[in-house]
Amino acid sequence: MSWCPFAKKLELQPESDAQPAIRPTQFIAHSIVAPWTPERTYEYWRDSTNLESHFGLGYDGSLGQFIGTQTRADANAAANRRPDGTGAISLESASNLEASDPWTAEQVETLIRLGVWVHQEHGIPLRLCRSADDPGFGYHRMFREWNPDGHSCPGDARATQFKEVVLPGIIARVTGQTPQTGGDDMPEYVNLGITKAYQLAPGVWDSIEFTQEWTDETGDHTPNGAVVVRGGARFTGTLSLTVTGLAKGEVVQARMSEFSGETHVQDHPIDELIGTDGDTFAVVPVTKRIAAGRTIRFRLLNQGAKPVKVTSAVGTLLVWKE
Ligand SMILES: [Zn+2]
Repeated sequence: MSWCPFAKKLELQPESDAQPAIRPTQFIAHSIVAPWTPERTYEYWRDSTNLESHFGLGYDGSLGQFIGTQTRADANAAANRRPDGTGAISLESASNLEASDPWTAEQVETLIRLGVWVHQEHGIPLRLCRSADDPGFGYHRMFREWNPDGHSCPGDARATQFKEVVLPGIIARVTGQTPQTGGDDMPEYVNLGITKAYQLAPGVWDSIEFTQEWTDETGDHTPNGAVVVRGGARFTGTLSLTVTGLAKGEVVQARMSEFSGETHVQDHPIDELIGTDGDTFAVVPVTKRIAAGRTIRFRLLNQGAKPVKVTSAVGTLLVWKE
């Protein structure tokens, strides 16, 4: 007998004691086709019908619970309790008289909170039910076995919200990841360099192999490897370079290139280091979105006539994984 700690307990009798136990494997959302508070829904179940749901959700996000979640409630036909003892937890939600309005932001928030709770309390898997008996989350009209008369509950707007907002919200909160639409999660930090200077021969694009790894929160860089970011990801940062031996007016070019495994796939625009008296310094901005399966390397081309030395190369990146 489980009672949700943030729901107001409005226990329905005799159903709460009289109805058989279930092992909850599903969560099914409904619209009650009335703008009712949890208290009013409780009265309706108590006084006007022998049907009932486990939960009632008001427009303001208030939540009532009428029956423990390990007791059968009668809101979704064959899913209430199956011969094997599994069954669905049901929630009725306040709606307009046509059940055509979307859930309010407060209702969505409570649905997400409750979804997290039923997942943690009963192990209901974080997915849309794939069949009438499949463990997971759903809404009433998804299967004829749940909804024999084929009515449209919870309505088009809420069916879409359930798939696009509510369930992704539950998954995001359980896994600690914010959904990819918006979100202000901290990026991962990557800071790579080279342990010693190396020679750059003229005329060939050459990937910088980062032999120094100060920080690699993404784990995308392998020891001494050239890959700095693996897709899908968005990143921004800088590549700081020091080149020794570049004659005044001669050029070393720098660019990002995309690879798939060892295969070069695509280049990005070129920046140029122009030789000055003494060493030549540059800080090259690097910002890009990279698709899954692709990697980013930083490459240099010595356009001068003679070899030069790369005495410092530091990649500093903020990375948002997709
Ligand atoms: Zn329904």
